[in-house]
Amino acid sequence: MSQTEIEPVEMSLPQRLASAGVGSATPYDKCLALANNLWWSWQPEVINLFRDLDPIRWRQLDHNPIALLAEFTPERLEMRAAELVLYSRINYAYRRLKEYLSNIQTWGSTHAGVLGSKPVAYFSAEFGMHESAPIYSGGLGVLSGDHVKTASDLGLPFVAVGLFYDQGYFKQHLDHEGYQQQEYLDTKVENLPMSPAIGLDGQPVHVTIETRTGQLVAKVWLMRVGRVHLYLLDSDVDGNSPEDRELTSRLYGGDHRTRIRQELVLGVGGVRALKALGITPGVFHLNEGHSSFATLEAIRDMMESDGLSFDEALRDIAQHTVFTTHTPVPAGHDRFDAGLIEEHLGPLRDRLGISLDQLMGLGRVEPHNGGETFCMTVLALKLSRRANAVSSLHGHVSRRMWAHLWPWRVEEEIPIGHITNGVHVPSWLAWQMQQLYDRNFPVDWFKRMYEADAWQGIHHVDPGELWETHYALKNLLLSFVRRRVSRQCRRRGESDEVVEAARNMLDPHVLTIGFARRFATYKRADLILSDLDRLSDLVNDSQRPIQMIFAGKAHPADEPGKQLVKKIANLRHDPRFAGRVAFIEDYDINVCRHMVQGVDVWLNNPRRPLEASGTSGQKVVLNGGLNLSVLDGWWAEAYDGNNGFAIGKGTSHVSDEVNDRRDGADLYRLLEDQVIPLYYDHDIDGLPRHWIKMMMNSIASLAWRFSAHRMVIDYVRSAYLPAAGGLSCDMDR
Ligand SMILES: *Cc1c(COP(=O)(O)O)cnc(C)c1O
Repeated sequence: MSQTEIEPVEMSLPQRLASAGVGSATPYDKCLALANNLWWSWQPEVINLFRDLDPIRWRQLDHNPIALLAEFTPERLEMRAAELVLYSRINYAYRRLKEYLSNIQTWGSTHAGVLGSKPVAYFSAEFGMHESAPIYSGGLGVLSGDHVKTASDLGLPFVAVGLFYDQGYFKQHLDHEGYQQQEYLDTKVENLPMSPAIGLDGQPVHVTIETRTGQLVAKVWLMRVGRVHLYLLDSDVDGNSPEDRELTSRLYGGDHRTRIRQELVLGVGGVRALKALGITPGVFHLNEGHSSFATLEAIRDMMESDGLSFDEALRDIAQHTVFTTHTPVPAGHDRFDAGLIEEHLGPLRDRLGISLDQLMGLGRVEPHNGGETFCMTVLALKLSRRANAVSSLHGHVSRRMWAHLWPWRVEEEIPIGHITNGVHVPSWLAWQMQQLYDRNFPVDWFKRMYEADAWQGIHHVDPGELWETHYALKNLLLSFVRRRVSRQCRRRGESDEVVEAARNMLDPHVLTIGFARRFATYKRADLILSDLDRLSDLVNDSQRPIQMIFAGKAHPADEPGKQLVKKIANLRHDPRFAGRVAFIEDYDINVCRHMVQGVDVWLNNPRRPLEASGTSGQKVVLNGGLNLSVLDGWWAEAYDGNNGFAIGKGTSHVSDEVNDRRDGADLYRLLEDQVIPLYYDHDIDGLPRHWIKMMMNSIASLAWRFSAHRMVIDYVRSAYLPAAGGLSCDMDR
């Protein structure tokens, strides 16, 4: 079926949802309505419904229901639905979506009243909601996606603003040498749950941004994520130069000039888009510094509409702005020279009535230091009255890192607080595990998932039942790994024996360790390889062996990161590790979901304190896996001695070399003395009782605290409400 046949349905979706009774829309229409709102991506029944329509194509199409439905005619879908007795499931799912969208009795309606008609506008350079919408690269994007989904579930007045990358981030595959290759694929717009955003004037919204060297134009897409509208700016429009049309094609590609132009579209363009849509935010939330230019545009708008001076408008906008910083790694903070700033912000600066030196001063620690470049994080810190890091430890690190912005204050009084990251439980919890919880937890546990007592029923679950459920999920992961690795071998044209061996690799009875993350060198993916003989002894132990699954991309420009990928991927050629160590190519949300739901142990060993938070380990908690991690990021405040394993003592030596040696030795010692013995300590029923007890402790003590529901509620209470209402709070300056 062609895209033109989908269009009209997509355009009339809101009316359809508003007016159609459950009986009047066809099953095909209802499936389309479900596919056109990413709400489906966190509803196991709806996912299963789509999968059942055609399990093989579902997998091949990256779990994209719009692409799947495009292969059906309404007639064929009805036949398929009749064959599989899907009607009642389709009707039920559709009715639930309608109820979800129209429900006004939400947490937000009783707790976020002040926000009222002035929503929080959440700006982020990437959003990772689902693998079928590839507009994210990694942790920052997935966090934004989880934040948006949770804002939707809680019913907050909330809109989100980002960029539409039609090529997204690269797809990774490895060549014969194990070296990473990058490939950029075009995403088909018609296969995404988006439509052109319509402005107050009834026309599709376009925004124009003047620069000293010409205009930049962007169109705006609306993506529906439950109740939340996510607006995505896209520079691929007539009127832009061929180069500018590709400006927003790729995430984190290009040079400084590309970067500042992307950030101009996101920040300045984003605020203009909201205005054209008739949306007046009560709070601006800058998720990372990329979008900080939004504050300057908001100031301009306020000066021109309310006749305020620059200083008055600045004070007002700062009062309503919340900033979240995400990394202590210097390369993560964008810096631009005065030439780029003047080229891109010159026209806006004219309207603000400030000099270039004044403007540069807003992005400098020392405003008049001509040698200092313009830092987006500094701008965000100066133009927000509330700033936070993403874990308690990261709060300390950030206060030290930015202390020179407030030279008259002692470190504890540097006004950067922290709100620890969390994950969207409905997106990351395996439905098999959810069913187990449903049987054992209070009936309303899912609504109260951010409260400790909702999860305490885990201690009363039958250990055998918990172990069985985990074992089933582990088997699903192993099948996934075998499928992917054998496909990787086929793609490289390897022999039938190699492909066949991949189909049989890994053993479900063996302790399985997962490691997946960005292959930045500070994350030390090869720490566990620091003594290969010792690792080989562990992997090949006849009684108590271990096996490992790795995944992760290196940034295209990060040569040392690519060497790490190669080193790990090539372990498969070492007979000591063949069949026991797997590398899955092209880490994404799909790979992550399989891994966090099926591993026994999740390994995380960054150089402390460079991991601001990390969230993948939180996903593991929900599904019964145990964390084995350096006391960095979220784990530093999560570990209590009985809910997982800690590498090191939470201290770090100034020398990386000493640190790496110590942490490596500690990792082996932990595996040998604690992790492996505990895992293989079976009782007479064949169950690892003490291990299961630790799984329960982990779930009971951590799942609620590191849920995105807890996180977003913290944002509402300590950042959004004070920013909207002008109330003071801990983080207030
Ligand atoms: C959750 C997630 C991350 C973030 O995990 P970290 O612990 O920060 O590495 C990164 N990438 C993907 C695809 C994820 O799903």
